[in-house]
Amino acid sequence: MSHNKNERLFRISVAAIGTLCFGAAVFRFEYSKFTPTFVLLFLVAVLVAPRLSLSLPKSKIILSFSDAAICLVYLLYGGEAAVIAGAVEMLLSCLYFKLKGVTFSEFAIGYSVGMVSISIFGATTLARLLVGQIESVPSFATTSGLIVVLGLFAIFQFVLTSLLAAVYYTQKLRTRFLTVWLEEGSAIAITQFVGAALAAVIFKLFSYADPAAIAVSLVALGIFFFAYRKIISEMTESIEQAELAVREKAEAETQRATEAEQYAAELSALLKIEEEATKALRKSRQEFEHAALHDALTGLPNRAAFAEHLRQLIRSNRENGASDSYVLFVDLARFKKINDSLGHTIGDKVLMIVAKRFVKTVRPTDMVTRLGGDEFAIILNGLSTLEKAEKVAWKVHQKISQPFSLSGNKINIGINIGIAPCDPDYSTPEEILRDADIAMHHAKNRGSGVERFNRELRERFVQLARIESELPFAIERNELVIHYQPLISLADGSLIGFEALLRWFHRERGLISPGEFIPVAEDTGQIVPITTWLLKETCAQLAEWQRLSYDTKNLMMSVNISGKHLGFQSLLVDVDDAISTSKISPSSLKLEITESAAMDDVEQTVRMLSSLKSLGVQLSIDDFGTGYSSLSQLHSLPFDTLKIDRSFVYVVGSKGENSELLQTIVSLAKNLQMKVIAEGIETEDQLRLLRNLGCDYGQGFLLSKPLPKDQISELMYKKSNWFPESMIDASETTVNDEMNLPAF
Ligand code: C2E
Ligand code: MG
Ligand code: MG
Repeated sequence: MSHNKNERLFRISVAAIGTLCFGAAVFRFEYSKFTPTFVLLFLVAVLVAPRLSLSLPKSKIILSFSDAAICLVYLLYGGEAAVIAGAVEMLLSCLYFKLKGVTFSEFAIGYSVGMVSISIFGATTLARLLVGQIESVPSFATTSGLIVVLGLFAIFQFVLTSLLAAVYYTQKLRTRFLTVWLEEGSAIAITQFVGAALAAVIFKLFSYADPAAIAVSLVALGIFFFAYRKIISEMTESIEQAELAVREKAEAETQRATEAEQYAAELSALLKIEEEATKALRKSRQEFEHAALHDALTGLPNRAAFAEHLRQLIRSNRENGASDSYVLFVDLARFKKINDSLGHTIGDKVLMIVAKRFVKTVRPTDMVTRLGGDEFAIILNGLSTLEKAEKVAWKVHQKISQPFSLSGNKINIGINIGIAPCDPDYSTPEEILRDADIAMHHAKNRGSGVERFNRELRERFVQLARIESELPFAIERNELVIHYQPLISLADGSLIGFEALLRWFHRERGLISPGEFIPVAEDTGQIVPITTWLLKETCAQLAEWQRLSYDTKNLMMSVNISGKHLGFQSLLVDVDDAISTSKISPSSLKLEITESAAMDDVEQTVRMLSSLKSLGVQLSIDDFGTGYSSLSQLHSLPFDTLKIDRSFVYVVGSKGENSELLQTIVSLAKNLQMKVIAEGIETEDQLRLLRNLGCDYGQGFLLSKPLPKDQISELMYKKSNWFPESMIDASETTVNDEMNLPAF
């Protein structure tokens, strides 16, 4: 059974037993006692006395006049009267409090009334059982009798009331019976005994004093009562105020503590957020720093990291006055071609593979950097001599040049390396890098692979840099001039045409040879507009010369075309424009392409040359013998003429020495059904030999130097045979006879 049910049952039981007790009391009440004095005391007991009770502050003790009044009723009119008065008093008090708004739980009123009935009825019965009927008999008039009567009544009433209360609270509060009994009992005992004592005093007063003394006593008691009640109420009030203040203070403290806790929690949350933010910031700063100093593709340190490292190296070298470090400037050859032909994804992978190879090849103490694009730099540390650095450079060269397969493609990477020592004379990283770069360019131009830096290289580089910066203004300032070198038929000395050769007359530096500025123009791409201009000029000039006479109408013009230019489709347009504008026959324009340029990318050359050929122009392979072309490749290219490089001509001596290669080249050209032209003819012996070999045409200082157009025009009027005077008569005779050489 649940506690609630027990409690309920207990209450109902108490109410029921109480009702029985009350009924028994009403039944047994002697109505002879129902006098006006009884009614007065009864009314005082049930109506007035309960309102005069005093609650002692900070305790459960109540000084109840109603208890005193009930005791008086008990003394004067017996237990039954006391039961009726007690029950009615409790019932009216409950109703009074209910009217005042106090809510009573179920059976609470019945239980309270029942408890009072039981306790008074029980106390009366127990006292009677113990000592017989002692109340409402004169025997209690003595003080000792009074003490016995009231004492027994109070004790039994206390016992019963406290037991019932303890049982009730044990169930309600679910605590131990003894604890509750001791706690509740003390308050009940005091209330009971104080009430009994007060009843005894009142009884004594009424029994022994005269009316005046009673009146004075009552007044004094009344004054005392109200004064005391006031004091008590003030005390209670101040205690309540104090308690309130303490409570408020405690509440305020609690509130403050809660707020402090909240604040601390918020603060710690904030600190946590800040800590996380700081962590994230630190992480992103680290990532940012890493990204700022590393190349995203290869993961190698980048140019900024390289410069910083080199700066520190320079500082320590300057302090020590010596250095054992070297910078390698590395450039990948043909990388652009890989990117263009195989795509950027493959290009990226190639760079990553190359980067790994670099790192594997050098020591961990060395620093490999990607400067950008296909340029890398390596700082070699702890090497005592330049020779050792060069050895490492060759090792790098060999490792990187090893072909490898990637996504089904065979990758063949070329590489050029320039070496510069980190001498203490250097004050900035840029200076060292610039010199290593110069050496690398030298290696590239020479095709040597690895080159050390030296001062001459720097001077050359400075010159080239000047050319590069000033070349764009050369056309604008009309500093570019075309010279024409006559091309002569070696059969009869007649003029067959010209080779257009560029000259740069610099306003300060004087004549700059094409050997100096053409490579720069090729590197910077300026060769394209220059050639466009040159094609127009030369074709127009040729048209003018062709119009001169019947003899000149078939003259032709050779124009040099840079290998770099072959990649530009605009060349076709430019050539076509020049021909159509000048109205020359397409076949009178010959384009010369050096052998090395033609062989650089044979497929591209074939494509472009075929397109040019379809315009009707002639094509000549220039500087033949220097470009290592294979016969099959040569055969696949649509050249009309083969121009022998002058290095094969000038070695020929007066007796025809060193002419073997010349002979071979001429016979090769014949076999390929090409016309042959020899350049660089400077001596009559060379001319004679070439004529004897059956070489078709020639050009050289012996015949005519390259000259401005006006001088050429003049010479054209003067000369019908361009051979030297001494050879004109002999030109009709066979050279074979004189030099005793085999005929081809
Ligand atoms: P190249 O096309 O082989 O031109 C022939 C070079 O041989 C010319 O040098 C000419 O002056 C030189 N030469 C001719 N006969 C003799 C001789 O008997 N002895 C000596 N020692 N040299 C002789 P140049 O004019 O200095 O031109 C050098 C190179 O510059 C040319 O070689 C050509 O490759 C290039 N070049 C000149 N003009 C142009 C141009 O307009 N466009 C392009 N792309 N290249 C040009
Ligand atoms: Mg040429
Ligand atoms: Mg040449």
